[in-house]
Amino acid sequence: MNALAGWSRAARGAGLLSPTGAPAASIFSEMSALASATGAINLGQGFPDEDGPIEVLDAAREAIAAGVNQYPPGRGTADLRLAIAEHRSRFWGDTPDPETEILVTAGATEALAATILGLTQPGDEVVTFEPFYDAYGGLIALAGATHVTATLHAPTFTPDPDELRRVITDRTRLIIVNTPHNPTGVMLSTEILDLLVELAHRHDAIIVTDEVYEHLTFERTHVPVVTRPGAAERTLTISSGGKTFATTGWKIGWISGPAELITRVTTVKQFLSYVNGAPFQPAIAVGLRLPDTYFTGIAATLRGRRDRLAAGLSAAGFGVSLPDAGYFIVADTAPLGFADATELARELPGKIGIAAIPVSAFVLPEHRDHTRSLLRFAFCKRDEVLSEALTRLETLTV
Ligand SMILES: *Cc1c(COP(=O)(O)O)cnc(C)c1O
Repeated sequence: MNALAGWSRAARGAGLLSPTGAPAASIFSEMSALASATGAINLGQGFPDEDGPIEVLDAAREAIAAGVNQYPPGRGTADLRLAIAEHRSRFWGDTPDPETEILVTAGATEALAATILGLTQPGDEVVTFEPFYDAYGGLIALAGATHVTATLHAPTFTPDPDELRRVITDRTRLIIVNTPHNPTGVMLSTEILDLLVELAHRHDAIIVTDEVYEHLTFERTHVPVVTRPGAAERTLTISSGGKTFATTGWKIGWISGPAELITRVTTVKQFLSYVNGAPFQPAIAVGLRLPDTYFTGIAATLRGRRDRLAAGLSAAGFGVSLPDAGYFIVADTAPLGFADATELARELPGKIGIAAIPVSAFVLPEHRDHTRSLLRFAFCKRDEVLSEALTRLETLTV
């Protein structure tokens, strides 16, 4: 159909559509299908296989039973916005006003979508680090904006300050900062955060952060960009209950920042989902008010799982970059003699019964070569599942 031609061209360019016009079969669904066909342990997709805190689950059940089942307020329930504000000041020290500076969204994803659609115009540039969480690429393309990347250089995944100075220009509208980072697990240093704030000022850009792994940190505490000097006036901070409370299917996220920007984002959100997750909003409020021990506990458990999977991958011959945070380890297949991790990812389920995702799924199509030998493994899995995965890794021969 001619009417669709322009959009289809753009969507194909961004990898959203296959050359035939069908939705591109993503490597995520390909690997999940392969994992279930072969009975492989799926260390590809990053979702926990255990339930989150019982207080949170019970609160959702109670809310449904109590009739909290209709449209909640557009900005989210007043109590959840208050809980978000309290949580931010308890852990990170910023103090957004729950009335004007916080919006509840359908997951971090909708906050990102509404922000990118609301604050960019076709032709504006949006800068992200690369590799990047795959939704950024799709959303930037949907907005008609141009995606520009700054490389996180393997094996430490540190950015190059000179490259940041080069790619952030007067054309840059948004700088998306994902720390702690998916897929690499890297946490950006305060020097890099301060440089980003300086560049945002110089080029009049807005910083948008994705901090969904804020509590899943292993080496040091998370530093939100918004708390750095000069950042607050031009930073939108995004997070979500999905990763922190092991409720990725609930899609309760939020965004905080200057009232004027939050109003812009709200304007778009009202035409995306309008509102979302009425009974889950009070439940996530309960979660955000859990004692500190809950938050340190989940990080400690996950750190143990990271260490076990890292040891297993090293013993199997992979080059391992130990992540500071998050759900994932990036492993290099080159020491095993595999130049192309995508090929190995397709073989692994049949060969040893483990599925992983090639890191090339998280880069622009023209940059696939940089990450060709890298695979991403999730360790947010139960101890017995990880034990079985480690046993299977021992059988890897090349
Ligand atoms: C999981 C994830 C998201 C999505 O969060 P939702 O709340 O499920 O929408 C966003 N960003 C990153 C980096 C993630 O890993």
